[in-house]
Amino acid sequence: MKKEHHGHCHCGAVRFSFEAEEITNGVRCNCSICARKGAVMAGVLIPEQELKIEADEGMLGLYQFGAKTAKHFFCKNCGIYTFHETARKAGHYRVNVACIDEVDVFALPVEVFDGKHLL
Ligand SMILES: [Zn+2]
Repeated sequence: MKKEHHGHCHCGAVRFSFEAEEITNGVRCNCSICARKGAVMAGVLIPEQELKIEADEGMLGLYQFGAKTAKHFFCKNCGIYTFHETARKAGHYRVNVACIDEVDVFALPVEVFDGKHLL
């Protein structure tokens, strides 16, 4: 059953919500940026139109590199990565599972995606 998930960065300037099943697994990725971020992402891929983003004026930062297909968003105040549009599937987002309310990132099974070789 789907439920509404809410999340936010550390300071609360960037907030998001989406509807999805219970979050039961996390994903890490070994590509050049994910390896550095070290974040665990929610296993679910969220279509763009289903991710509601709210941010205080000027606080949503965007980082892009290389072919600039992926969009890596973060909070300009606290620096936390909140979500990104994936390079693999245009119009789809992954979120930082540690930013989601009521989800304990340390309790989730986490798999590693081989983005280093597959992206
Ligand atoms: Zn913040």
